[in-house]
Amino acid sequence: MTEHSQLDDFERTGGGAVLMDGNRLRDEIVAELNAEITAAGSPEVCLATVLVGDDKPSRIYVRNKQRKAAEAAMVSRHVELGADAAQGEVEEAVRDLASNPGVHGILVQLPLPEGLDADAVLELIPPEKDVDGLTPRSMGRLVRGQPGHVPCTPLGVMRLLDRYGVPTSGTRAVVIGRSTLVGLPQILLLGRKGVDATPTLAHSRTPELQAVCQQADILVAAAGMARLVTADYVKPGAAVIDVGISRTADGIVGDVDFDAVQEVAGAVTPMPGGTGPMTIACLLQNTLAGARMLGAFPA
Ligand code: NAP
Repeated sequence: MTEHSQLDDFERTGGGAVLMDGNRLRDEIVAELNAEITAAGSPEVCLATVLVGDDKPSRIYVRNKQRKAAEAAMVSRHVELGADAAQGEVEEAVRDLASNPGVHGILVQLPLPEGLDADAVLELIPPEKDVDGLTPRSMGRLVRGQPGHVPCTPLGVMRLLDRYGVPTSGTRAVVIGRSTLVGLPQILLLGRKGVDATPTLAHSRTPELQAVCQQADILVAAAGMARLVTADYVKPGAAVIDVGISRTADGIVGDVDFDAVQEVAGAVTPMPGGTGPMTIACLLQNTLAGARMLGAFPA
């Protein structure tokens, strides 16, 4: 249990579950980063974003990241290329940022337009600047328990669990989804020594998904299937974390049927306002860590 384990202190949903408020925790983290950078004499800590094409949600994500970087007293630099950019142009832009000593984190907003090889672009990001934690070198470090950047969305989930006093040691966890962006690193983080949950990785071929989920003390839904997790998937008292984002006629919908699940769960994230803001908060924390690794910020 952490110092924040007094669940009584937290806001609850109408059904009595603790509301794991990602906006609130993001704001706390951004304020802490601002205080840390200011106290160090405001050295320049720079996050570079690369946007290729005109995908509207991607543009909004990038804008939000830049806005929060500014609130954290960080500088951002933005490179934008048209949807018809050639592979070589995108690689050239990332190479420039990789070799620029004034840049401490590089975020290539995914997905890239069709026809571009995202893996080849990500490979160009040095591990210290790989603040999204998505390159094979960062992933390898995570698997081997070596220091490095951890992917922001699963890291944000871990921060929420910690902040809201959800115990992990000795618990059963189920993660729905096995992508390298979310599900796989999530399993590694939950099973790490010191965290000590026993995670199960579920996916579209998992038989009896509902029964598997009912075993979970911690359930992380990252499938991208609107309202997949209904109340009867949830063990009473479990912590349920919604990562999924589906754009439907009703607007943006998560993987969790929030209204029903909050009646059963012990703690639950809202959607929006749960894991999304935490992804940005962790990106900024990784950027400051990157500046430290590069010797551009006091250790
Ligand atoms: P992805 O690469 O499409 O992976 C989805 C995973 O879910 C796959 O492993 C898939 O299984 C599994 N899955 C799909 N339908 C399922 C079902 N009915 N039952 C069980 N498993 C199922 O997606 P992703 O990149 O991991 O993203 C997942 C979701 O999170 C998306 O909605 C994405 O928009 C959202 N997201 C949110 C944030 C955030 O900050 N909140 C960040 C990143 C992503 P198979 O492997 O068998 O196909």
